[in-house]
Amino acid sequence: MAAATTTASATEPPGLETQYRDIQAILQGRELRAGDSWYLLERRWFEQWKEYVQTGDQNSSSFPGQINNTELFEELDSYHLKDRLVENEDFVLVPADAWHKLLSWYGMVENQPPLERKVVDLPSTVKVEVYPVEIFLCLHSNMDNVVTAQFSRADSISTIQKVMREKFQVPESAEVRMWMKSSDTSCERLRNIYMSVLDTCLSTGMTVIMEMRNADGTWPSSRPQIMRNSMEEQDSYRGQPGVCGLTNLGNTCFMNSALQCLSNTPPLTEYFLRNAYLEELNFTNPLGMKGEIAEAYADIIKQMWSGRHYSVVPRFFKTKVGHFASQFLGYQQHDSQELLSFLLDGLHEDLNRVKNKEYIELRDADGRPDQEVAEEAWRNHRRRNDSVIVDTFHGLFKSTLVCPECHKVSVTFDPFCYLSVPLPVSKERVMEVFFVSLDPEAKPVQHRLVVPKAGKVFDLCATLSEATGVPASQMMVADVFNHRFYKIYHADESLSCILDRDDIFVYELSNACVEQDSEEVVLAVYLRERSHYRDYGSGSSSYGTSLFGHPLLMSVPRAQCTREALYHLFLQRLARYVRPPDSSEEVEEEEEEDEECGEDEEEEEGGCRTQTNGVSEDEGDEDGEKAGPSKREEDGQDGVQSDGQNNCHSEASPCSEVEERTEEESSSEAERGSSTEEGQSACGSTDTNSQDAADGEQGTGLEASGKEDEDEDEEEDGEEAARCSRPNKRVSGRRCCAEKRRKPLFTIQAVNSNGTTERGIGEGDSTFSFSSQPYIAIDWDPDMKKKYYNENEAEKYVKHHSMDIPHQQTTVQLQECIELFTTVETLEEENPWYCPMCKKHQLATKKLDLWSLPEVLIIHLKRFSYTKYSREKLDTIVDFPLRNLDFSGYLLRKTGVNGEPPSRYDLIAVSNHYGGLRDGHYTSYAKNKDDGQWYYFDDSKVTYAREEQIMTNAAYLLFYQRQDKIRKPTLPPPTSSGTSSSTNQLANDITSHNHDGVEGASSCVNMETD
Ligand SMILES: [Zn+2]
Repeated sequence: MAAATTTASATEPPGLETQYRDIQAILQGRELRAGDSWYLLERRWFEQWKEYVQTGDQNSSSFPGQINNTELFEELDSYHLKDRLVENEDFVLVPADAWHKLLSWYGMVENQPPLERKVVDLPSTVKVEVYPVEIFLCLHSNMDNVVTAQFSRADSISTIQKVMREKFQVPESAEVRMWMKSSDTSCERLRNIYMSVLDTCLSTGMTVIMEMRNADGTWPSSRPQIMRNSMEEQDSYRGQPGVCGLTNLGNTCFMNSALQCLSNTPPLTEYFLRNAYLEELNFTNPLGMKGEIAEAYADIIKQMWSGRHYSVVPRFFKTKVGHFASQFLGYQQHDSQELLSFLLDGLHEDLNRVKNKEYIELRDADGRPDQEVAEEAWRNHRRRNDSVIVDTFHGLFKSTLVCPECHKVSVTFDPFCYLSVPLPVSKERVMEVFFVSLDPEAKPVQHRLVVPKAGKVFDLCATLSEATGVPASQMMVADVFNHRFYKIYHADESLSCILDRDDIFVYELSNACVEQDSEEVVLAVYLRERSHYRDYGSGSSSYGTSLFGHPLLMSVPRAQCTREALYHLFLQRLARYVRPPDSSEEVEEEEEEDEECGEDEEEEEGGCRTQTNGVSEDEGDEDGEKAGPSKREEDGQDGVQSDGQNNCHSEASPCSEVEERTEEESSSEAERGSSTEEGQSACGSTDTNSQDAADGEQGTGLEASGKEDEDEDEEEDGEEAARCSRPNKRVSGRRCCAEKRRKPLFTIQAVNSNGTTERGIGEGDSTFSFSSQPYIAIDWDPDMKKKYYNENEAEKYVKHHSMDIPHQQTTVQLQECIELFTTVETLEEENPWYCPMCKKHQLATKKLDLWSLPEVLIIHLKRFSYTKYSREKLDTIVDFPLRNLDFSGYLLRKTGVNGEPPSRYDLIAVSNHYGGLRDGHYTSYAKNKDDGQWYYFDDSKVTYAREEQIMTNAAYLLFYQRQDKIRKPTLPPPTSSGTSSSTNQLANDITSHNHDGVEGASSCVNMETD
C-alpha cells in the first residue's frame, strides 16, 4: 500500500483513509440549502466504495470501479430516471463537493450524465428535488407542437411563462394567458402567475397551454366550441351525492382512497354537511393547523356530496396537506394509512373543542379495578381531546406490561383512533431463481421455489435440488447485478439476505462445492467487451471495457488453470451462444483483422499488464480478509496456475506482446501463420488455435523475454501510426503462409469482483494467483463479439412449470389478526420498558386488550412488513365479514347493569392497495349512506360494486360502523329497483359517461371563459 501511495500523481486519488475522511467530513452535518446542488449516486456503488475505503487497500477486490448509475435509469438511451426510486435504498445523495471528489478519483461510466439535483425550499420542508416536475408545453394555436420541460416545485408559473415565451418565440409585448390541463383533460386557468408549481398542483404529465390575445381583443379559448368548462358541464349533473370521483393529481391515489373512505363515514360527513364544524373550528390550537385542514376537508366533502360533479379536483386540499405535512408533497407513492392517520389527527386538533389543554398527571393503575382505571383514563383523554373525531373514531385499549425480573405489573389504558393489526407472517417464502445447468447447451431455467423464510441458502439449494435432480452440494448461489456478481452466497448464509427483487442465479458445478485446498477452484467468469476508447491517463485497461451478458460460476481443476486450458473450457461452456469460426472463415478473418492491429495491440498491452496481477504477498498480509490467498501461496504455490504459467508470470511480468513476438520469431513462421492478433493476444492467453499446438506453445510463449524493454520504448514513442505499421509489416511477410491459425475469439484476464482490472498492477513481482474467490474476465473485441457471440441466444431462458402454478395465497380470518394483536409479546431490544421497580430498562412482556370500541372502527391490516433484513408486502387474503363483525369475545369491558355493550359492526368502506412495496395503486370500496349501494372508487372513476367483489388481497384499511349507529338508507338502492333507464345506462360505469364526453372534446381544449 505504501508503494502504491507514493507513486500517486496529481491525478491519482489520495490514500483510502484520506478519501474516507474527506467524504465523511463533507457528508457529516451538511445541511440542505436551497439552490445547492446534490448528486444521486447508485447506492450499491457507494456501499462498495465505503467498504473499499474502510477495509480494503489500494488493490483490494472491493475496488468499486467507475461511478456507475446504470441501475437508476429507466433505459440508457434517454437516461430517464426510473420512477419511485427510494433514497438510501436505490440511491444516496451527496453534496456537490463530495461528488466532484469522487468523480475525479473514480471517473464515471462512459456517456452517463451526472444526476445533479437542486435543493428546493418548499413549505415546511427543504429537500433535494430528485424528481422535478416534467410538464408538456404548447401554444393554444398549435397544440401539436409539444415541448417537454422540467421545472422545480419552487418555480413560479411566471418562470414557466418565461420559458414558453422563449421556446415558442412569443414576444414580450404579446398578452398571454396560461392554462393547465390535467391527465383527465380538465382545463384550468393559471390566473396567478406568482403561485408556485407546487401550490398550483402542476404535476408531471400535465400540459401547460399558452394562448395569445387576438388583435380584436378576444381570447381564442373563448370561442364557443372550446368553451366547455368542466365545471359548467357538471352543473347539469345531478347524481347521487357522495358518488363522486377524485382527480388524480399525480401519485395522489393514496389520498383519494383515504378520502373516499372518510367521505363515506356517515357521522363525519353529516357533521360537515350540516356545517357543525364552523362553530368548532379551533384557530388557536398549537397542535392544529389553524382550522385550515378542517376547512379544506369541509370544502371537498361539500363538493363531493353536492351531486353536481362526476369528479372533483382535490387541489386545494392536497396543497393544504402538503403545507402541513411535507411528507405528502408528492415525490413518491405514499401510504393511505399514513395520510389517514395525519388527517384524523389534523381534523381532530383543528376541531378540538378544548381550547386550553390542562396538564393531567397520569396515575398508574396500582392494582385498582380495570373499570375505575379505564374510566379515569377516558375522562382524562376527553378533558384534553374533545372533537367529532374522538366521538366517532376513538376507542380505548388496555396495555399490560410485566417485568421479567421483578414481575411488576403495569396497567395503562390508552386511546386509539385505529387498530393496526398484524397479519400472521408465513413461515415460508416464494423465491424465483434461475438455475444454470452444467450442460452448456441448456438454457437457464427459471424456477419458483417455496423455501423456509428463516432458512439458509442451503435450503434454497435443497429445494431446487428436488426440482432439478442436481445435488445441492453442487450448487452455488449468486446475486447477479449489472452483469456481475454482486454477491456470491455461502451455503450457510441466511436467506433473509436475499431480497425478492434480487436476481438470483444458482449454478450447477461439476463437483461438490470445493474446499479451499481442494483440487478444484470455482471461477467467477465475467464477459467484457473492449471499447476502442481507452483512457491513457488512468493507465488502467478497465477504462476501456464494459461488462455484458450473464456471468458464470464454474468449477475448474486447478491443474487446468492455464489460460490455454481455460480458453477451451470457456469455449465449451459458452457453446450455446458462442460459435467459433469454422475453417472456411478463418483466412478471411485474419485478413480483416490486420487492419485493426493497432488498436487491438493497445488493448492487449493494457490487458497484459493487468493480467499478471493477483494478490501480491504484502497486500495479502495487510488485508486480513484476504488471508486465504496469501496463505495458499505460502503453502507452496499450489494455488491455481499450472507451474509453467505461474513461473512465466512471476518472472516476466508485465508480459506484453513482445514476448509473443519473440516467440513467434523463434518459431517457424510457417507454423505460426500470420496474424499479429495472435501475437498480441498470446499474452491474453489464447493466441493459439488448435489445442494440441497450443499446449506446447503456451508454455514457451509466456516465457520471459529480454526484448520487453526495447518494445516498451517503442511503445512509448509510439504514435498510432507507428504502432500500426509495425505489426502490419510483419504480418504481410507472413500472409502467404499456408498454415491456418485460428484467431482467438477472446482473451482472458484476472479481474476483481467488480469486473474491473485491478489497480496497481505491473509493479513489483506480482505473482499470478487467485484470491479467495477468483474472478476472470473473458474479453471480447467488439467485432469478434458481433461475429461470434449470439446475444439473442445468450439471453434466452426457459420457465420451469413451477412458474405457471400461481402462488397459492394463504387466507386468514380477520379474527386471527385481531387475536394476534392481543397476543402477549416480548418487547424488542430497541424498544425496552423502564421498570419503575428495578429502575432500569427491561424487555417486558406486553399484552394489549380492547377495552372499548368507537362508533366507527378503522382496522389497518399491516401488509407492509419492514424488518432489518427484509421489506415486503404481504398479499395474504384476509377474510373479513361485511356484516356482523362481533367483538364481544375481545372486549374486556363488561357493563354490569345493561349487559355487554353493543359490539357488532358492519363494513362501510375499504381502502385497497394493489401492487408491491414501492409501486402500486390505491382505490376504495365504500357504501353510500343514502342509497345503501356499494361503489368502487378509482380516482376520478366510480363504478357500482357488488358485495362479493369487496374481499380481496388488496384490502388494506377496513372501516366498520357499529350496528346500533347505522341508519337505514333513505333512498332505494339504484340497481335493485331498475326503474329508470338512466340508471341502467350508468350501471357499469357511472362516470365513464363523463370521461367519454371530455375525451371526445380533448382535441379541442375545454376551457372556461372569463
Ligand atoms: Zn422490574
